[in-house]
Amino acid sequence: MRRVGLLGGTFDPVHFGHLRSAVEVCEQLQLDELRLIPSARPPHRGMPGATAAQRLRMVELALGQGGGLQVDDRELQRERPSYTVETLESLRQELGSDVALFMVLGWDAFCGLPSWHRWESLLELANLVVLQRPDYDLEVPEVLKDLLAARSSDQPERSHGQIICLSQTPLAISATHIRTLVGSGASPRFLLPDAVLDYIENEGLYRPSTKD
Ligand code: ATP
Repeated sequence: MRRVGLLGGTFDPVHFGHLRSAVEVCEQLQLDELRLIPSARPPHRGMPGATAAQRLRMVELALGQGGGLQVDDRELQRERPSYTVETLESLRQELGSDVALFMVLGWDAFCGLPSWHRWESLLELANLVVLQRPDYDLEVPEVLKDLLAARSSDQPERSHGQIICLSQTPLAISATHIRTLVGSGASPRFLLPDAVLDYIENEGLYRPSTKD
């Protein structure tokens, strides 16, 4: 069965926390491909600092050529808020039911899952891959404890419905921290790819005058 990973996010900007996790998930789960999916207008969050086109461009610059990592811009094609469940439905329609889908979430995102639109349907469409995230010491909601007990698996082999908790190289990098550094005139170099940093500088992103 073909195995496709999905990592959604605002990527404002994309950084090595996303990229290194993506590579390690690909290898640990032996994925055929992993798609980074920038979100258009995240339902849970304020407006991002960069435009959708700029965030997409930064992901493209970060990924460069080749490799198993790709960008999927389907959420940017929509005009209304992009709910993850709808993105998974659209991917299922495109890829069919014979493909195993692995939706990758950091621990912080996983803990917020019960507030997502139709969140209980997510496991009918994909497996969930939960990554540890340093500096996010969040308590998991009761309902997710039950879900973890019922659905966790070390040997994911189904097209959907399982939860896989992975440990990867812990990188305490966040986009918020990068925006704060740039906004205060400090360098975020080596927290994200040079090509992305060059783009941020050329476009004048995240400077104090920019609304965050
Ligand atoms: P912000 O600081 O703006 O909230 P972020 O750094 O959390 O941004 P997102 O684009 O919101 O980045 O993250 C997309 C996904 O990647 C989420 O599931 C998040 O938990 C995960 N993620 C982000 N950074 C890391 C990291 N350093 N390690 C593991 N997972 C991460």
